[in-house]
Amino acid sequence: MAGEIVAVWLADGYLLGHLLAVPGRKKAFVFAGGFVGKLIANLIGGESLYVSLSYTGSGMIEVCTAALLLPQIQSAKELIAPRTLLRFIICAGIIAPLASGAVAVLLLQGVFTTHPFSTFSNWVISDSLGFIIFTPVTLNVISGEWRSFLAPGNRPKSLALLGLVGGVTTLIFAQHAPSLLYWTLPPLALLAFNAELSTVVLGILLFIAIAVPFTVRGHGPLALPQFANMQDRILALQVFTLAALSIVLPITASQVERNRLVAMLIDGHRRFRALAEHAEEVIMQLSADGLFEYVSPRVKTVLGFDADELVGAGISALLLDADRARVQHAMKDAADLQASGSLQYRIRCKDDRVIWVRSYVASMPVGPNEEKPSMVFTLRDIDEQFRAEQKRDAEQRRLEDLAYVDSLTGLKNRRYFDLEFGRRCEAALQSGRNAEMAVLYIDVDFFKNYNDKYGHQQGDACLRAIARYIETTIRRIDVLTRYGGEEFVVLLQDCEISPAIATAERILENVAASSMKHEASPFGKITLSIGVAHTANQEGFEPERLLREADDALYEAKRLGRNRIVAHRHGANGAVKHDV
Ligand code: GH3
Ligand code: MG
Ligand code: MG
Repeated sequence: MAGEIVAVWLADGYLLGHLLAVPGRKKAFVFAGGFVGKLIANLIGGESLYVSLSYTGSGMIEVCTAALLLPQIQSAKELIAPRTLLRFIICAGIIAPLASGAVAVLLLQGVFTTHPFSTFSNWVISDSLGFIIFTPVTLNVISGEWRSFLAPGNRPKSLALLGLVGGVTTLIFAQHAPSLLYWTLPPLALLAFNAELSTVVLGILLFIAIAVPFTVRGHGPLALPQFANMQDRILALQVFTLAALSIVLPITASQVERNRLVAMLIDGHRRFRALAEHAEEVIMQLSADGLFEYVSPRVKTVLGFDADELVGAGISALLLDADRARVQHAMKDAADLQASGSLQYRIRCKDDRVIWVRSYVASMPVGPNEEKPSMVFTLRDIDEQFRAEQKRDAEQRRLEDLAYVDSLTGLKNRRYFDLEFGRRCEAALQSGRNAEMAVLYIDVDFFKNYNDKYGHQQGDACLRAIARYIETTIRRIDVLTRYGGEEFVVLLQDCEISPAIATAERILENVAASSMKHEASPFGKITLSIGVAHTANQEGFEPERLLREADDALYEAKRLGRNRIVAHRHGANGAVKHDV
């Protein structure tokens, strides 16, 4: 201040900083404290109660207007965000000083010695500067942001820039050549471009702390003959300071925003690299035409290639012919349909080894300079696991075969018959149509005698021969099993009763034609007895009954003298009938 002419009114900027920073209810306390403090300061300064109240009232109107028009702002960094800064300048830099200036001039008519208009303009400009400079300074201090100025990494640069601002400002304001005034701007601009926020705020403070006292004492480029009175000189300094701020603040705002984005980018990139480089999978980015654009270093462990070696090459060359189309399809689906999915395929390693891998393929968002989306590929070595699975499957199949095959004849065994018979019956029941199914129960006649006569070994050979005769007689869709000892069961699928009996007859004929000797049998050769049952002979279809009826029919064939076929039928009155 020079007498009652104010260059920069700092009290209200300080108060506004506190008011903006505290949350809702506490604002009332800050406001009350500000009011009492201002009133006491005015009274101590020797003003009358009326004048003190008028000054205090006008000031509080100003602070209040700005605080009501602005959101809660807790740091200088928040304030400097472009939209907030613009709102702050309009509300605190223009509207609030205009309102309080008008009130002050009205209340204090006659108290000021200067012309009301120059009183008003001095009030408005000094308060505006006060807000624009001291509100950020206050927020900077309250939020603790100022400490970043002391951060070891920033310190030398911050000090050098502040030294430059202080030095140049001092040199220029200690001399009188008006043309040099504008050279105070480059150091301020340099500061705004290169320093972080709290240093910039400190630099502005340093600038006015040097410029104001020099100018008030009649030194510096503004102590010109045409600015003979203090009022004009201070106005010139204020206008210059506003111009300087209008350079520095937008630069600072854009730098703060830029630094935020750069920090975000660096952070994102660092996180991506850490994830990509420490993942168990190889992470790759492929162009739409299948060329590697990025490959994570893990590829060295999995495929043996250096990541750089692959960038620019195509994935196609590493694939086997058999898998190529499948992988290309997956990529095409990912690109065209945005469909992501995983697939297993083989890939050739650097040492020509071929390993099984599993990949997850998805398309990436289309970048600003791309026509087609790139593909993100993960690649996991599943070779060991895959081969182990294959081996396990093969072993499983082998065990299943063993469990269902009769080792003597090579036919399927009874366990298989039960399973397959159940399956087919269920299918027949579900299909709902009348199931045409026949069962033949076949038993070798006098086989115990055969064993006794020719020995067990030859008995076995005989059973094998019989198995082959039956096998060559039936169709592929039929099921032939060695049901036990010297008994065989045939399931004839989709077969009516007459062809079923015809099949049984052919079996008998084939075995008879073979003339396998059996001297311990009344027939002198190997003969069979066959019981036939058919679903068409049942009202409704009962799998269990079908087997029982075939067994009954076989029993009947034995009873009637063996070497024959008996078919189970129901008579009209429900009595069991057998056709021979
Ligand atoms: P039938 O059926 O005509 O009433 O007289 P059978 O002598 O065949 O009577 P049964 O069915 O009681 O005898 C079956 C015989 O089949 C008993 C057993 O010695 C013989 N057998 C069962 N399994 C085998 C086998 O795996 N190998 C050999 N060699 N003989 C077997
Ligand atoms: Mg038997
Ligand atoms: Mg027998």
